[in-house]
Amino acid sequence: MANIEGKVVLITGASSGIGEVTARHLAKQGAKVMLGARRTDNLEKIVKDIKDAGGSAAFKSVDVVKRDEVDAFVKAAIDEFGKVDVIVNNAGLMPLSPLTALKVDEWDRMVDVNIKGTLYGIAAVLPLMKKQGSGQVINLSSVAGHVVFPGGAVYCGTKFAVRAISEGLRQENKDIRVTIISPGAVATELLEHITDEETAKMADGFGQIAISSQAIAESVAFAIGQPDDVDVNEMIVRPTVQD
Ligand code: NDP
Repeated sequence: MANIEGKVVLITGASSGIGEVTARHLAKQGAKVMLGARRTDNLEKIVKDIKDAGGSAAFKSVDVVKRDEVDAFVKAAIDEFGKVDVIVNNAGLMPLSPLTALKVDEWDRMVDVNIKGTLYGIAAVLPLMKKQGSGQVINLSSVAGHVVFPGGAVYCGTKFAVRAISEGLRQENKDIRVTIISPGAVATELLEHITDEETAKMADGFGQIAISSQAIAESVAFAIGQPDDVDVNEMIVRPTVQD
C-alpha cells in the first residue's frame, strides 16, 4: 500500500491479538516490522512466519513498564533497520473489576502498562522523530476511552489517559502524525486476565460479539498509508451490534 512499503514500524504487545495481526498485516504491505513483548517464543514464531512469506521482521523482548527496555527496543529497531517511521503503542491489559473489590495490584498494573508503557514508547522515539522531522505515533485506546462502564473505572481511566496524551502530543508536534485507534470488542486474549468472577461473566458478553483483530490491523494500515500531510487522528472500530 502507498506510504507503508519500506517504513519501519515498531509494535509493542506484538506476541498476540491485535499487535500480532497488525505486524503480520503491515509486513504483507511491505513494512519492516519490529515486534516487542515479553513472550519471545511467540515473537520468534511470528517473525519466522513473516520472513518465510518474504517479509521483513525482527523482534526483541520488551517489558513496557521498564523504560530502559523500551529504549533498548527502539535502539534494536534502529540497529536492524536504520530508522523508525512509526511506533504502535499497543501493549495493554484489562483486568476489569469494581473498585470495591480493591484489586489495587491490578490497578497499578493497568496504570503501568497502559499509561506509562505508552509514555515510555513516546519518550523513546520522540527525540529521533524530531531529528528526522517526521514520524507517526499510533496509540491503542478503546471505546473504553470514550465511555465508562461498571467494572471499568481504572481500565477506562487508562484509556481516557491514552487519548489525552495522544492529543497533547499532536498539538505540540506538527511534524509528527499522531493516531488514536479505539477498538470496541475484539476477539483476543484480553478478557483472560479478568480475575473478578462477576465481572468475568459480564465480560463474556463482549467476547460473544467480538470482531477479528484484522479489522484493527486494517485501520492501522489505513492511518499509516495516508499521504504525509494527512493525519488520521482517531478511528473508532467496533462490532456493528455493540452498544
Ligand atoms: P492481548 O492480550 O491479545 O494482547 C496484549 C499484548 O500486550 C500481548 O502481546 C502482551 O504480550 C502485551 N503486553 C502485556 N503486558 C506487557 C508488558 N508489560 N510489556 C510488553 N508487552 C506487554 O490483547 P489485545 O490484542 O486485545 O490488546 C491490544 C491492545 O488493544 C491493548 O492496549 C488493549 O487495551 C487494546 N484494546 C483491545 C480491545 C479488545 O476488545 N481486545 C478493545 C479495545 C482496546 P506479552 O504478554 O507477551 O508481554
